[in-house]
Amino acid sequence: MPRWRFGLRWRLALGFAVILALALGSVALFTGKVADREVNLVQAEQDRVRAGRVVVALAEYHETNGSWDGLQEFVRRTSFQTERDIIVLDSEGRLVAETSPPNDRRRGPGRKFFSHHEDEDHSLAPEHFAPIIAGDSQVGSVAVAPRGRGGHPPWALGVADTPPAPDVEPPLSRFADAVRRTLTIVGLVAGVAGILLVVLLSRRMLASIGSLTAAARELGSGNLSSRASVRGSDEIAELGRTFNSMADALEESERQRQSLVSDMAHELRTPLSNIQGHIEAMQDGLLEPDADNLETVHLQALHLNRLVDDLRLLAQSEAQELRLDLSPASVSEIVQRVTASFRARAEAEEVRLETTVEEALPTVSVDRVRIEQVLTNLVDNAIRHTPPGGQVVVVASQTAGSIRVEVTDTGPGIPSEALPRVFDRLYRVDPSRDRGTGGSGLGLTIARQLVETHGGVIRVESEEGKGSRFGFDLPAAGH
Ligand code: ADP
Repeated sequence: MPRWRFGLRWRLALGFAVILALALGSVALFTGKVADREVNLVQAEQDRVRAGRVVVALAEYHETNGSWDGLQEFVRRTSFQTERDIIVLDSEGRLVAETSPPNDRRRGPGRKFFSHHEDEDHSLAPEHFAPIIAGDSQVGSVAVAPRGRGGHPPWALGVADTPPAPDVEPPLSRFADAVRRTLTIVGLVAGVAGILLVVLLSRRMLASIGSLTAAARELGSGNLSSRASVRGSDEIAELGRTFNSMADALEESERQRQSLVSDMAHELRTPLSNIQGHIEAMQDGLLEPDADNLETVHLQALHLNRLVDDLRLLAQSEAQELRLDLSPASVSEIVQRVTASFRARAEAEEVRLETTVEEALPTVSVDRVRIEQVLTNLVDNAIRHTPPGGQVVVVASQTAGSIRVEVTDTGPGIPSEALPRVFDRLYRVDPSRDRGTGGSGLGLTIARQLVETHGGVIRVESEEGKGSRFGFDLPAAGH
């Protein structure tokens, strides 16, 4: 079966057509029935009024003439004017006049009308006749019926061979027909217009969906720059925008992956080519394999090792595979232990290292080794970037529901444009200088991963020329 048959446009149009048909059909049915009933009521009323007029006219005729003589001509005229068939019987029940010529000889003028013959016309009965009163006495009776109708009480007509006629007189039945016809035409026109409208209105919507589908297909086949064209602010536009931001994120992560690979190659190449250069120089006798030169090679190998370790740790924590060995720990102890390990180095570099730890800090539930690693990284960076004579302060305090640790230095600070990127993998503010100082460019990335794995947040504030403040919050135990 062709696909378009089940397309949204056709389903919308079909649904709309069905609803329209149901609505118009029920309105037409209901209106038709009401129109029929009203027409019948008007018809019955008209019958009664016209019949009443005939009875009055006949009574006046008898009063004026004193008898029914010459009535046939009067009845014929009255019948013509009122469009009614009329049968008049005298007070004895004999036929005096009728509009249609008698087709039954037994019913000729002067004969008893109801004589109980077997072949009598049973469409008429005595109760179909109304009395004609002149003065105080009944001078006869009359049956009146719309012309051509026959056999319908209360004013029935006894002409046996009258063809079956419509219930309603032509002008009134035409009214009911007209209502039905108009409703049908209006229904058809409204239906066609409605379907056209649905097709037109759905076109834009379907165009947006089409563009979205095409963009998604492109994206799926590897073209990450593919985007859906978005117009308006309806739900489909919103879907398009969401799709586009998802494509942005995909493209960005692909770009990061590519740059990570090339950055990694670069990172590995520098120490490796240093090692290679040294060894080759020693082999060629250009360098002595003495303690100093071997130490240089060894340092490069250590650097490579750290780089690989950092990468593995980062990969593990990014893949949520890092298992934390959580236990209650005192932040003040962590701060003391880490700063103690830096004391000698700070002294050697003429940097004042101070700690301020708030009293009675609640314990935190952390992997102590990992949190020490984070703080070590922050203090190491701070001392590394602080010139002789400067100072590094480590502060631990309590904030609402968490413990905050901050490392403030009086180093050169970080340019504001670089601030948002310092936690990125392999990002260095000054690549040539920072690589020389031995950092892998992964320290802050790992610190952020470790803090976030603990449910905490890490942040940085810095002003160029004044110094930097790196800090992290850890949820206090029981929060
Ligand atoms: P690295 O191991 O190379 O130091 P990090 O991820 O620890 O890498 O830091 C990223 C960059 O952020 C560093 O290259 C450095 O330029 C900058 N940075 C980190 N800490 C400080 C600080 N305290 N003062 C100034 N710059 C800093």
